[in-house]
Amino acid sequence: MLIGITGTPGTGKTALTSLLEDRGQYRIIHLNELIREEKLYSEVDSQRDCVVADIDLVENRVLEIADNDKNITIIDSHLSHHIADYIIVLRTSPDVLRERLAKRKYSVEKIEENLEAEALDIILAESVDWCKKVFELNTTEESMGRTVTSIIKIIKGLEQENTSELEERYKPGSVNWSEQFFS
Ligand code: ADP
Ligand code: MN
Repeated sequence: MLIGITGTPGTGKTALTSLLEDRGQYRIIHLNELIREEKLYSEVDSQRDCVVADIDLVENRVLEIADNDKNITIIDSHLSHHIADYIIVLRTSPDVLRERLAKRKYSVEKIEENLEAEALDIILAESVDWCKKVFELNTTEESMGRTVTSIIKIIKGLEQENTSELEERYKPGSVNWSEQFFS
C-alpha cells in the first residue's frame, strides 16, 4: 500500500517522515532525493535552482519500488498526491510557515508564493480531487512527536481498512487560513 504525505514546502514532510523512518516500520521514499539521484526530471530550472520532475517517470519508478514490497510505502513529497490514492496533507499556518521558509535560502517571491498556496488550500484541493482518501493534519500547534503519532494512527487505520473515525477527525476543510492571511 502506497501512502503519500504531501503539503506546501515547510509543512514538515521530510522532518516527520524521517522520524517515522527512524522507527524502522515503514519504507519511506524521500522523493526529492530519488528524483535527483535517478534523474527523474525533464528540465533543470537554473533560475529557480530546482529541477522540473517528470511526473510519469516518477510515478512509474515509485510504483515499481512499492510493488516490490508487500508492506507499506510512504512517499515524502509535495507531489505524492499525484501518485498515491491515500494521502495525508500537512497544514501549517502561514505565519509559522513564513518563519520556517525564511530559514531556507528562498527568495522573498518564493516564500510569498508558497504562503499563498498554503492559504489557498491548493494541495488540499488537488488531493481531494485526485485521491481516494484524504486526511488533513494541522501541525501548527502540535509537537513533531504528536504529529508522528497521528500519522501512525492513520497508517494503521488504512492498513486495517478502518478509517471512518479518522476520516471524521482529519476531514479535509478543517483548516482555514484565509482570515489570518487575506485580511
Ligand atoms: P518539507 O519537507 O515539508 O518542506 P521540512 O520537514 O523540510 O518540510 O521542514 C520543516 C521544518 O520545520 C523542519 O526544520 C522541522 O524541524 C520544523 N518544525 C518545527 N516544528 C514542527 C512541527 N510541529 N511539525 C513539523 N515540522 C516542524
Ligand atoms: Mn522536504
